[in-house]
Amino acid sequence: MTANKAQLPSVRIPRIIRLRYHPFVDHFKGFEKVEAVRAIFGPKTNEVLRKLKVEFFSSRWGFMGVSDEDGHLLVSTHYLRTGNRRDIYLDVVHELVHVRQFREGKELFADGFEYPDLPTEIEAYRTCIAEGRRLGMTDRELFDYLKVEWMDDKDVRRLARNVGVRPPPKRRRAAGRKR
Ligand SMILES: [Zn+2]
Repeated sequence: MTANKAQLPSVRIPRIIRLRYHPFVDHFKGFEKVEAVRAIFGPKTNEVLRKLKVEFFSSRWGFMGVSDEDGHLLVSTHYLRTGNRRDIYLDVVHELVHVRQFREGKELFADGFEYPDLPTEIEAYRTCIAEGRRLGMTDRELFDYLKVEWMDDKDVRRLARNVGVRPPPKRRRAAGRKR
């Protein structure tokens, strides 16, 4: 007996799509003057930000990230539209730490670590948390900021401890933030 295999329909599928990158400074203004950002890049701040590229994507899932291939920034347009302004600001500071880590040749997603323990994440969170504290955020607000959909309560608490944020007392049901 021979299996009756259907042919792949004759469709056309593009294999190489040219991505559209935008200069960071065309859309994100004033970051070169932020002390927390200047502390990340030092005297190279203006140059790095001027050369930094952003790729916008429309997915509702995910907020921002840095490409571990070429170090450009990825930003969700949905998040920009619906997210909390202060969270977005802190996320940019966070991602800029990853931009520097990438430039230093660090592996952003080193094997053998879970997200709350990744050294690159801990450094990025410590930087944006310090900026949050400077803006007057409480441990409770910072803890809420740390909550994202890919971490359960246990992981958020672990991350919080790793980055010096005091987790609130455990409740029977933890309410997740939507952003
Ligand atoms: Zn990160």
